[in-house]
Amino acid sequence: MKYAVDLHIHSALSPCAHEDMTPNNIVNMAVMKGLDAIALTDHNSGANLEAVSICARNQGLVFIPGMEVESCEEIHLISLLPDLKSALKLHEIVYEALPAIQNRKDIFGSQYIMDENDQIIGEEKRLLVTATSLTADEVFSLVTSLGGAVIPAHVDRSSYSMISNLGLIPEELKIKYLEISKNCDRYAYRAAHPELDGYKLIRSSDAHYLGDILERESMIEIEGRAAREADGSTDGFGLIGEESGQADDMAGIGEALRHVDEASRIREPDKDKPSAGLTACELINILV
Ligand SMILES: [Zn+2]
Ligand SMILES: [Zn+2]
Repeated sequence: MKYAVDLHIHSALSPCAHEDMTPNNIVNMAVMKGLDAIALTDHNSGANLEAVSICARNQGLVFIPGMEVESCEEIHLISLLPDLKSALKLHEIVYEALPAIQNRKDIFGSQYIMDENDQIIGEEKRLLVTATSLTADEVFSLVTSLGGAVIPAHVDRSSYSMISNLGLIPEELKIKYLEISKNCDRYAYRAAHPELDGYKLIRSSDAHYLGDILERESMIEIEGRAAREADGSTDGFGLIGEESGQADDMAGIGEALRHVDEASRIREPDKDKPSAGLTACELINILV
């Protein structure tokens, strides 16, 4: 069974993200786009994870609590945890590893902490978009010890990526997946980087705006899971099917700017959905 995911999404806690990136808006947009699972990955903080997890649960969307940790080498690492408790543990450690620099809203933007009703319940004062004191190695050890998975972020970019900053993927790190950007041509990238043949590539949106959240274009396959595959039906949202092996390269962000109000109605969890019963843990097991 293949599941459509977007494992790199920012909320309004990230100062660079739009203030429309509220817990409900993110979840509603993901549901509207027909995704089976999403991860919230704010910069160096998990302060909005609980609110988004509540919204996701209410909408029957599988939610992976995560964080985009910046190592001391200025490498962005998508860190995905199996549950909220371990994610909040990571949050505590990463927060302590941030320099005590105050955010300048006028320069970087606001860092809103929200509840499950999209109410602003606080603002993070410490600047989140900066390097922590943790090495990439330490981030891997930490996340792994918490039962999570690490995916080096946007390796095709010229900054804040493992390849741009280290020049290679260290073999001693147990890495299975590398993230490529939403608009990266994966075939051209593969052709240009034969040294990465041993790694799987996964596309994520790195969405800072609602419209940027992926459609059903990035798939994770869990072999032997779920039974509705045989009838070829989609998950009931009427969007793109999942039969293509190259599904994560499907073009199509045409739906991207649909107004999120359309999705604001509460959706009854559908027990017949292919993703019913799917857990963050099962998805993470595929990624490590
Ligand atoms: Zn990044
Ligand atoms: Zn990001």
